[in-house]
Amino acid sequence: MNEFDPLFEPELSRLDAQHWLRQCRVIESACAPEIVYQGRRLILMASNDYLGLANHPAVKEAAAQAIRQYGIGAGAARLISGTQPPHHDLEVALAKWKDAEAALCFGSGYLANLGLLSSLAGPQDIILADRLCHASVIDGCRLSRARLRIFHHADVDHLERLLKRRPAVRRTLIVTDGLFSMDGDLAPLSALARLANQYEGLLVVDDAHGTGVMGAHGRGSLEACGVEADVPFHMGTLGKALGTSGAYVVGSETFVRFLVNTARTFLFTTSPPAAMAAATIAALELLQREPDRRARLWANREVLFQGLIRMGLRLTATASPILPVIIGDEALALGVAQALLERGIYAPAIRPPTVPKGSSRIRLTVTAEHTREHLDQVLHAFQDILASRSLT
Ligand code: PMP
Repeated sequence: MNEFDPLFEPELSRLDAQHWLRQCRVIESACAPEIVYQGRRLILMASNDYLGLANHPAVKEAAAQAIRQYGIGAGAARLISGTQPPHHDLEVALAKWKDAEAALCFGSGYLANLGLLSSLAGPQDIILADRLCHASVIDGCRLSRARLRIFHHADVDHLERLLKRRPAVRRTLIVTDGLFSMDGDLAPLSALARLANQYEGLLVVDDAHGTGVMGAHGRGSLEACGVEADVPFHMGTLGKALGTSGAYVVGSETFVRFLVNTARTFLFTTSPPAAMAAATIAALELLQREPDRRARLWANREVLFQGLIRMGLRLTATASPILPVIIGDEALALGVAQALLERGIYAPAIRPPTVPKGSSRIRLTVTAEHTREHLDQVLHAFQDILASRSLT
């Protein structure tokens, strides 16, 4: 305790009373289907490492090799002296993969959304955003100082009503996640692209979770919805299916040059290490060379999804390897997470403010690397918990 702590204690007490208080838990091993936590071996059902690349030998070796060649820190922002060959090569590889003219990498998805949205919009503009957009998207909208309107989740009719009612503005942005992180459902991208076209707006898609997972080739939610040719640019992250860290925006060469010169979260921050870019290049190669990873991911997803549904558990309208089991009450969700932990499963409760009040959930995420035994153990644990308390 020091003399300033009374400034902060009331907020912590308030969060605690609502069961919203959180703290970091130290995982004592690499991100993999089995982790070590508090000295115990547990099955991890909470990572976004969908394709199992975060701990892949080829990805780690690419990083190690780049560290030997380029050191650890890039030493400056990208535009000063922080661009090394792996940074450039990764952007070329991402653009090629997405069949775009150019790509630009950011230090994280959070930074990419802040930079992208605050470059695209200003006080003379309006942004219409889905209610369930990621926090970084909403923060990007706020940073832009554009007028912000929220449309009901995936509700195209509501969006159209707002579009019709909007004041005269310079630019209209329609903003959505491609694949929603806490519900696992896909945005109605085809309808959103049509509305953007009809009302002369720009559709901005955050495909953090869709990247590497959705679409026949894993190019993401835009591929899955057949709108790649209709959406001029979009962003995605590298810290989920690609198993590394950072984010990208792909689009035209002009658009990327615009971002290089205007996105403050690109301009005024130290370049991510070249080793991270080199690791991502290796991960991207694996993603494209080993489509079997995606096949295993989806097969695993089906096993777990069907098993949970058979038990009568309530899931969101998920269309992805994100399988959120809705519990509702915050304290009950915490209790279920604890009960899972006691049965060897690590899957924390997701509570407000991450999700709306009363919709606390156990968000299970499946990866390509989970075995059938892992999934059976998760299903048995839920069965066991259901036998002792009602969750439905
Ligand atoms: N957008 C979405 C939809 C996300 O789920 C996340 C990460 N949880 C981000 C952006 C932020 O990405 P990063 O973790 O790379 O900052």
